[in-house]
Amino acid sequence: VSPALGNGPEFDRIRAIIETLGERASGLGDDCALVPLGNEYLAISTDLSIENVHFKRAWLDPQEIGWRAAAGALSDLAAVGAEPIGVLASLALPVHSPVPDFAAVMDGIGAAAAAVGAKVIGGDLASSPNWTVDVTVIGRSQHPVRRSGAQAGDGLWVTGYLGGARAGLSAFTSGQSPAGAVRDSFVHPVPRMAAGRWLAQHGARAMIDLSDGLAGDARHLAAASEVAIVIEMERIPLGPGVQDSALAMGEDPFTFAARGGEDYELLLALAPGFSSDQATEFEQAMNLPLTRIGTLSPGRGLTLTLAGRPISLGGFNHFT
Ligand SMILES: [Mg+2]
Repeated sequence: VSPALGNGPEFDRIRAIIETLGERASGLGDDCALVPLGNEYLAISTDLSIENVHFKRAWLDPQEIGWRAAAGALSDLAAVGAEPIGVLASLALPVHSPVPDFAAVMDGIGAAAAAVGAKVIGGDLASSPNWTVDVTVIGRSQHPVRRSGAQAGDGLWVTGYLGGARAGLSAFTSGQSPAGAVRDSFVHPVPRMAAGRWLAQHGARAMIDLSDGLAGDARHLAAASEVAIVIEMERIPLGPGVQDSALAMGEDPFTFAARGGEDYELLLALAPGFSSDQATEFEQAMNLPLTRIGTLSPGRGLTLTLAGRPISLGGFNHFT
């Protein structure tokens, strides 16, 4: 059985694939495949990063292309609270690319793996007109956290700050050269590996990493858990450059952050008993904010409120 997915063209395609595969597939649609093995699970996920789709060569050097691709893949292990083991990476670069370019991409992948205690354990090479990096990550967990365990009454929490990656991306796409924290938010995301494990051990009932944007990913959590989610937008912790970028685009900063993808923070449901003392304990142990931004209730779907009024917006989508 596969968990329910939120709306949107990408998920229509996934639903069509799940339907076509039928009995030949199992468990599709969560952040990781979870394969029972002895008294634990192998957690496995794969993530594709393509030039001119996910990044432009003018924005990132080859090492950064590797880091970013691997960090995005590792983030899916964080989302189930797994401990990382290894990373496999397939690279396809234009046919006459110099040898050091391949090594530099792998250097970035190796750095992201090493940062979470994993090793590069395999891969493949090919040529392609566009730089293409496909990263598969493997981890382990005794009690993985799925998207489907949230219950009405739980609080909705998020790690870190949101919207920073979109602020960086907006700067790149408008021809600026972002620097410092704004650039880092897009170029150098940090998978929340230790945070994911801490939260899994402290009662996270459902968890997802923020790759498509808060609005889109919250819909997936709501759909998989068969609950309704209300997010109070003004509680969203704003990342670097978000205020300025939103202002420049004439958009509300909280809306801007909620529509931004690729922050790779964790969105999770915690039982109502999870206290502010525990949140403080998390923040001190992880050096990372943990913010309650909403509530789960009986029903279905996602409601976003700003100044007490419902508003509507979408997440990032590859197929629109
Ligand atoms: Mg994910």
